[in-house]
Amino acid sequence: MSSRIGAHTKLAGIIGWPLSHTLSPAMHNAAYEALGLDWVYVPLPVPDESYLFRVFACLKVLPFVGINITMPYKQAALELCDEVAMQAQMAGAVNTVHVSDGRLIGYNTDGRGLMEALAETGFDVAGKQVALIGAGGAAGAAFVGFVLGRAARVTVLNRTPERAEELIDRNRAHLRDTEAVAAPIAPAVAEAVREADLVVNATSVGMHEGDPSPIPAEWLRAGQVVADAVYRPHATALLEAAEAAGATVVDGLEMLVRQGGIAIDIWTASGTAAAPRDVMMAAARDAAAERFMSTGKGG
Ligand code: NAP
Repeated sequence: MSSRIGAHTKLAGIIGWPLSHTLSPAMHNAAYEALGLDWVYVPLPVPDESYLFRVFACLKVLPFVGINITMPYKQAALELCDEVAMQAQMAGAVNTVHVSDGRLIGYNTDGRGLMEALAETGFDVAGKQVALIGAGGAAGAAFVGFVLGRAARVTVLNRTPERAEELIDRNRAHLRDTEAVAAPIAPAVAEAVREADLVVNATSVGMHEGDPSPIPAEWLRAGQVVADAVYRPHATALLEAAEAAGATVVDGLEMLVRQGGIAIDIWTASGTAAAPRDVMMAAARDAAAERFMSTGKGG
């Protein structure tokens, strides 16, 4: 890749802290190579939110096509864009910025990435029952995907149920066909999870080796689709339990690769899924396996 870098090379990258775990450079650079783009994607570690403003100002003067934003700046990035797409406004977070004619346009591709990964299994959320575990940034993006996809009912389970209520309240004006209910992760919701067509973990439980499943295995059943936002080279405890129960599983790498692919599609203004998801998946799996071997940790 470095042999191709020259005066006309365009920049892309990821802003966050820490970035030691990021798989994005591997999968993006593999995609640029496959697409023949003279672009390079670099980690841009930003240790303090007070630097964010200056980093965003640089995006307009350096040859950036765009950037991704990860924890903990997805919410702060919303305020620093010149324009924010509806899905990102609803999610309350920006994970992708497109530098277009000197303007910074904010998007959120996490929810769309999850929906694309689900569609790969043939699952369409329209009219379905969903159990969404978590109420942070990833859960917010997923919730917006389910609302826009016209799910019949979304039960948002969270360790802190008030945050689940806040997530629903923030989007109440957009609910249309979707009934949304907040609940704690407690035995009282076991039936709602068992009845769900789709169960999604959007908590950070599962990121570390030895983490338990965020919900008991008995709450899962055959015929469900179970997705985990947590990405690791090996299945999380939730996905192991789901597989044992006979459910269809979607791992976090599928969502990660697709949110990255959608970002490239935005930056190239291709209007189609032109970024090669298969090339990106192979690069992400290799990078995840390498990191797992060197640190013994996933996530
Ligand atoms: P976040 O905003 O910090 O939210 C964390 C969520 O996890 C909250 O709902 C929190 O509950 C819950 N949680 C944390 N520790 C818990 C525990 N011990 N027991 C139960 N619940 C717990 O984080 P995020 O940005 O949403 O990210 C969540 C996960 O999604 C991370 O693993 C991240 O890497 C992953 N992610 C993946 C993708 C992808 O493309 N695959 C994209 C985005 C994020 P409380 O509200 O009670 O604290």
